[in-house]
Amino acid sequence: MAGLTVLDASVLLAHFDDTDPHSEAAQTILADAEELAASTLTLAEVLVGAARAGRLDEQLAAIADLAISEIPIERGAGAVLARLRAETGLRMPDCCVLYAAADRGNGADPEHGVVMIVPMDAKGIRRGKSIDKLGQRPLPQGEIFFDNVELSADHIVAGPDEFQRAVYAIHCEANLQMGAIWTGAARAAFEIAYRYAHERKQGGVPIYRHQSVAQRLFHMYRKVEASRALTRRVAMFNMTSPVPALQSAMAVKVTATQTSFEVASDALQMLGGNGNTRVYPIEKILRDARASMIEDGCNEILSIKGGYQMMDPDLL
Ligand SMILES: Cc1cc2nc3c(=O)[nH]c(=O)nc-3n(C[C@H](O)[C@H](O)[C@H](O)COP(=O)(O)OP(=O)(O)OC[C@H]3O[C@@H](n4cnc5c(N)ncnc54)[C@H](O)[C@@H]3O)c2cc1C
Repeated sequence: MAGLTVLDASVLLAHFDDTDPHSEAAQTILADAEELAASTLTLAEVLVGAARAGRLDEQLAAIADLAISEIPIERGAGAVLARLRAETGLRMPDCCVLYAAADRGNGADPEHGVVMIVPMDAKGIRRGKSIDKLGQRPLPQGEIFFDNVELSADHIVAGPDEFQRAVYAIHCEANLQMGAIWTGAARAAFEIAYRYAHERKQGGVPIYRHQSVAQRLFHMYRKVEASRALTRRVAMFNMTSPVPALQSAMAVKVTATQTSFEVASDALQMLGGNGNTRVYPIEKILRDARASMIEDGCNEILSIKGGYQMMDPDLL
């Protein structure tokens, strides 16, 4: 890995904690990196546990051993952020990316729209309350009201002539990322069920010894591997080709989200009554996975669009 690697707190925390499931991956990242850096905020997050345990000096020495250079927060940043938050009422300074139809004098045209960065403190913008959801609750969602909002043209990221290309690009990118995320969720659900099947005894033996349990685990494993392989194949193609394949990104999104829901559901069943509790994270993975089949495009609609995308007009 060449150049500078900027670390986030989760990588450093995993590096310093042998019991963290990502510890090995974190060691590899750090070992492969040429030059390491982390922001002051990241380092504070990493150091807080050590400070609580009275091991601050020890932890500082361990960080120094890694030769991580500190990226300081700019002078005066605190006051700027505080003022912004006080004036706008925002929980965090932020903005949204808006895809909208454009009206160039002939009515709203969704085919030639605009993509804009919209500062959430712009005059005329109001937020509704966060929606109470079944899954993915840490992802805050709610209505945004636009009342005669005016922004200068330099907020436009893609204008009417580039709109179709921008929509194509974001779908390719987002649908592919969903593949990685939800294959990961499926894998997590599988791994919990796999461990549980070895530990839980019924009928005098670990439940793994019952044929239907072994068979169910096999199908869960098969689905995770298939989702992973498809995601990798499409990622390789889409990230190295001049034009990524939208239908392939859609196939990835639909496959991975469907897989995560099916595998999480099977995992919950594997845990029996325990699966229904919050003692294990399976119920959360299942709720989150259910939402994934709707977000970034309902799987039904993506399948319709993807099907048409594949059509060869020359063969019609
Ligand atoms: C967790 C989560 C995160 C999200 N994040 C974002 C985000 O960051 N940004 C954003 O812009 N949006 C986001 N969304 C919104 C999401 O993109 C929409 O919910 C999704 O595209 C479906 O649109 P809808 O809710 O209006 O459903 P509708 O379009 O009303 O669909 C309702 C039902 O009708 C079916 N249906 C609709 N039209 C057809 C048709 N032509 N043929 C057959 N069936 C049809 C659908 O499949 C679905 O089952 C998110 C949603 C969720 C759940």
